[in-house]
Amino acid sequence: MIVIGGGLAGLAAGVALADSGWRVRLFEQRPFLGGRATSYVLPDGEHVDNCQHVTLGCCANLEDFYRRISASGKIKFFDRLLFLDPQGRRGEIKAGVLPAPFHFTGAFASFAPLTLLDKLSIARAMLHIIQHQGQPPELHVAGGITMLEWLRLRRQTQGAIDRFWRVVLVSALDEELHRTDARFGVDVFWKAFLLNSRGYRMGVPAVPLSHLYDGCKSEIERRGGEVVLRAPIRGLKLESGQLAGVRLDESREESADAYVFAIPHAALAELLPESLRQADPSLSHLDKIKTSPITGVHFWFDHIVMDEPFLTLLDTTTQWVFNKTALYGRPVGGFTEASGSEKNRQYLQLVISASYDLLQKSREEIIDLCLAEVRHALPKARDAQLLKATVIKEAAATFSPEPGVDRWRPAQTTKIPGLFLAGDWTQTGWPATMEGAVRSGYLAAEALLRTSGTPKTFLQPDLAPDGFIQMWLGNPRRAKR
Ligand SMILES: Cc1cc2nc3c(=O)[nH]c(=O)nc-3n(C[C@H](O)[C@H](O)[C@H](O)COP(=O)(O)OP(=O)(O)OC[C@H]3O[C@@H](n4cnc5c(N)ncnc54)[C@H](O)[C@@H]3O)c2cc1C
Repeated sequence: MIVIGGGLAGLAAGVALADSGWRVRLFEQRPFLGGRATSYVLPDGEHVDNCQHVTLGCCANLEDFYRRISASGKIKFFDRLLFLDPQGRRGEIKAGVLPAPFHFTGAFASFAPLTLLDKLSIARAMLHIIQHQGQPPELHVAGGITMLEWLRLRRQTQGAIDRFWRVVLVSALDEELHRTDARFGVDVFWKAFLLNSRGYRMGVPAVPLSHLYDGCKSEIERRGGEVVLRAPIRGLKLESGQLAGVRLDESREESADAYVFAIPHAALAELLPESLRQADPSLSHLDKIKTSPITGVHFWFDHIVMDEPFLTLLDTTTQWVFNKTALYGRPVGGFTEASGSEKNRQYLQLVISASYDLLQKSREEIIDLCLAEVRHALPKARDAQLLKATVIKEAAATFSPEPGVDRWRPAQTTKIPGLFLAGDWTQTGWPATMEGAVRSGYLAAEALLRTSGTPKTFLQPDLAPDGFIQMWLGNPRRAKR
């Protein structure tokens, strides 16, 4: 069988199928694996992530995938999320001794950037989500409602919206609240913050992202398969209207008994001939799935300016600051070997999700803006010399989770014999995340095995509820799902 695309979706499908005894041939157009969740080396030798990626404790399938490819040990988990506002007030999210869903009560009570009124309005909305087991009925109106509409419906204060809901959700969903389907937003809080006291724990790679996938190639090759890099698929070969192969460069063709296309939806739309779109109408709406941007800013300072592993800034363009030096656990700025005075330098990576306002700005303007914010937030950065900086704009970073988007997301099984789909944009129930991509790969592998008469399950169950939620949902008369 052939997998096209070496991002997380294609890798998850490929590894799962190889584990099930299939000979997998994976074709990736770029010289490295990982797709959007990857890293590469700059001309000066510095390893940079395409953008900082994080996972959460509730991402059960990504965790399973990392285990399969022996990458679990390369992820560091943190149970304390730190927030800082321009006035220097700090707040943290950290589970205390109380059981779920009350595990954040202590941390929340002392969260200085929020007023008492903000906290009371947030607590009311959380109780509403709990009462409806993550599925408040007002979310399910035809066409959906936006997160901002839902927050207004739940009478949230402006401070709670700007300094809590927006901060968490714009990073988690890469979209502004007025463009986000409230079902995705409420689900983040239900699964990561309420259902289980470990769901919110943040996992951050301790290596450049491409180093996580070392085990994928060997897993596939161990079963007689191959991973072919620099191998873009240029077109599909049809015979009697059926998919009969894929075309690569230099008139090379490859064929197999099944194909998993794990490429972005816009790339698939370009490859699909009209006859296949007509054969499966769910493939005719890919152009209706919109995308949203993320900008990453990389700073190298001449000395240590930050001690925390990461920090969320409030009321600024910069949303997250990651201390890559500390996360990599190396006394040098990243994975480049340095000597002498360079040994004390510090590498920070900043993330701005839904960065629509930055798309038109120049590299210099973005660096000036973010540097001023970092120097305001981190006093030690004020007298530090900025040695170098890089800006990486991803204009189409993720699909936009706008209300109604699920109508346009096709399933992994298509009506075209032998053609399966994977990708964070396919029907997974999840927004565009690494977890969503791995789910789609597992679902594609399950669909292929079902069709071939050898069914197998790869999809992992969601993190089990704990604390009072477990006691409550354990009552069958109350449990909805
Ligand atoms: C800047 C940024 C930050 C993000 N941050 C996070 C985060 O913190 N946490 C999180 O969970 N998610 C994050 N995401 C989302 C996450 O990266 C994606 O959801 C996930 O990686 C998508 O995986 P995929 O396999 O579906 O698609 P992709 O990663 O896009 O993989 C598709 C692959 O197909 C290849 N390809 C395309 N066309 C062809 C062709 N014709 N022939 C052969 N190969 C082809 C591409 O080169 C690519 O390798 C972020 C995304 C971006 C861009």
